Amino acid sequence: MELDLKPIELAGIEKKRPMIIAGPCSAETEEQVMDTATMLANKGIKIFRAGIWKPRTKPGGFEGIGVDGLAWLKRVKQETGMYVATEVATAKHVYECLKAGIDVLWIGARTTANPFAVQEIADALKGVDIPILIKNPVNPDLELWIGAFERINNAGLKQLGAIHRGFSSYDKKIYRNLPQWHIPIELRRRIPELPIFCDPSHIGGKRELVAPLCQQAMDLGFDGLIVESHCNPDCAWSDAAQQVTPDVLDYILNLLVIRKETQTTENLGELRNQIDDCDNEIIEVLAKRMRVCREIGTFKKEHDMTILQTGRYNEILDKRGAQGSLCGMDSEFIKKVFEAIHEESVRQQMEIINK
Ligand code: PEP
Ligand code: MN
Repeated sequence: MELDLKPIELAGIEKKRPMIIAGPCSAETEEQVMDTATMLANKGIKIFRAGIWKPRTKPGGFEGIGVDGLAWLKRVKQETGMYVATEVATAKHVYECLKAGIDVLWIGARTTANPFAVQEIADALKGVDIPILIKNPVNPDLELWIGAFERINNAGLKQLGAIHRGFSSYDKKIYRNLPQWHIPIELRRRIPELPIFCDPSHIGGKRELVAPLCQQAMDLGFDGLIVESHCNPDCAWSDAAQQVTPDVLDYILNLLVIRKETQTTENLGELRNQIDDCDNEIIEVLAKRMRVCREIGTFKKEHDMTILQTGRYNEILDKRGAQGSLCGMDSEFIKKVFEAIHEESVRQQMEIINK
């Protein structure tokens, strides 16, 4: 399905990369919200985030301040002039936020994973025209993520944006949520006009990773950043380890290198021609390899041999992996390429055998 989108329009916000949303993981007290918001506004931040309802993995923790916090966000709007954004997970959250004049809503990762919840939110949003950002589902399922955009878009909302916050994994050695950059990259390929925000705080789970993740997102051409920032991060009631002070955030943003997405240089054009030539050769060689494979298929058919010859397959993977590594490529990458080639060869031989 084609999405019917329009750019996010917030008066007074420049249309230049990156669009920044910043604020604490959770609204905790009126004082913490106002202090953080004032500091961020002084650093030129224009969109303030704060969670009012917090989805927590286990019960018993701080589950958000609830509706009372919306009045604090209203105060932020009035006193700092910033736009305010918060997470919604149910129709009731949507109604409360609309009543309070919240400018931007986002759907959290656990909610995106649940089509019933997304549909309920979409129904509650009918007739409303504000920016809605959708975090990736906790599981690395691009179709589920796109499905959520379709549901909200079907309800008539056109100012949509994606938030890449990483994907749950048992392995938390480096990241809290694995970035799996290829998923937002594929989202960009599928829906080029959809702005993508990176959430380095929830991907990294720790302060030190915020700056490098922001830079990576910019290098990939993402449009915005949503970063958790707290006036006193160590004392935060949720996600303390990943929040940075407004000062540190400002420092990180000032150091970002924003590269242009478009290129005008002729040199690059020439290099791109060389890439096209290489790709053409790859296709021709692959087609030749498949022709040989089909001949082998005919031979196997005539001699009643199985298609899969595991010994030979392992030999190819190991040999090519080592060879690739000698040529300066990652051996695991080469193995993946040959796994894919082998899969297609097997498919072609199956066709011959079953003819
Ligand atoms: C959040 O942004 O505070 C949050 C709960 O994020 P996520 O839905 O990405 O876990
Ligand atoms: Mn958080």
